[in-house]
Amino acid sequence: MRQHALVIALGAALCAPPGADAYEIGFPYHGPVIDMHVDIAGSSPSGTRWNAAFSEAARRWSSDADVRIDVVNRYSDPCAGVVPLTVNDPLNGVALRDDLCGFAFDDDTLAVTLRMFQLYSEVTMVEADIVFNDSVAWDVYDGPLRSGRPDFRRVATHELGHVLGLEHEDDSPALMNSAISGIYAPNDDDRNGVSALYGALAAGDGNIELMIEEPAQGSAVAGVGNIRGWALGDSNILSVELYIDGRFIADIPHGGTRNDVRDAFPVRPGSAEAGYSMAFAWSLLAPGVHQLRIRAIDFEGRAAEATGSFTVEAFGTGFIGDPEQVSVNGGVEKLDARTIRLNGVRADGLLYDVKLQWQPASQKFEIVEIVPAD
Ligand SMILES: [Zn+2]
Repeated sequence: MRQHALVIALGAALCAPPGADAYEIGFPYHGPVIDMHVDIAGSSPSGTRWNAAFSEAARRWSSDADVRIDVVNRYSDPCAGVVPLTVNDPLNGVALRDDLCGFAFDDDTLAVTLRMFQLYSEVTMVEADIVFNDSVAWDVYDGPLRSGRPDFRRVATHELGHVLGLEHEDDSPALMNSAISGIYAPNDDDRNGVSALYGALAAGDGNIELMIEEPAQGSAVAGVGNIRGWALGDSNILSVELYIDGRFIADIPHGGTRNDVRDAFPVRPGSAEAGYSMAFAWSLLAPGVHQLRIRAIDFEGRAAEATGSFTVEAFGTGFIGDPEQVSVNGGVEKLDARTIRLNGVRADGLLYDVKLQWQPASQKFEIVEIVPAD
């Protein structure tokens, strides 16, 4: 936060503005409880201890309850892990310093929040440190600004807004305005931003949304095809398991790009990579009806299941390795607008009639029936 002008926290350049005149949000912290390590000795001129002022700043956000900032009364160097960037220091530190981790503060800068983000299945904040400019004549008070005496507590509250993932909002009055003002606590606009970042997570009931798209319920399958769909939880999805006829078959690879799911569930973690998919040789199964069960498990250990059935159509033999062993000997017959039949298909020496039908899920004509030819 600055006396007047804009300050950009490290790593804060990415913004996702939800509207022209509302809060601005970036990416959320990776968990619902954020520990800030603070131990600043002494008291302000008005008598409030710096540590107490910082704790109160944390409480002013935590009443929101979707996310909580806990203050740990222990010093952790805010510059550790920031300069150099290669040092791993996951602790969130806070300090009053003459410099910004080796760089000079601008004259106007009151404090800076340094944030580190990481991309797993989505971008989350993995560390946030706050450096207050120690050359400022700090005090602690609510209400209108006092000339030459910036209020440490409201600046701390503003910086903790960055820790939560809020960006600067300069179109309407807010604590997250880039310049310090008479606003000394989060207002509705600030809180709406926090809700946008964490609200859906906390409001979630832990349910996992799970869809099977292929094979379509009740469909006929043959040869080698896809098992695919998407899974989405309030927490990230750990695994997607495939069962056929009650027997565990495999973990289905997941994390596939699904922009349509992201658009439908924009604030749920991993929604842009909610897809699961694997190829499966249906011909390994006996011809006839089979039960499909998909089980998704999230990182909290919660599970959800989706079930369906499908019918395997197959030639009398298993995998036909030699293409010469397949030939169409009869005519092609149109059965309806989306279905044709190949009559007299010879496969491994036997004759079949094979029905092909347009499949919306796979966007192609597929075998839906194989019967021995008369
Ligand atoms: Zn700021």
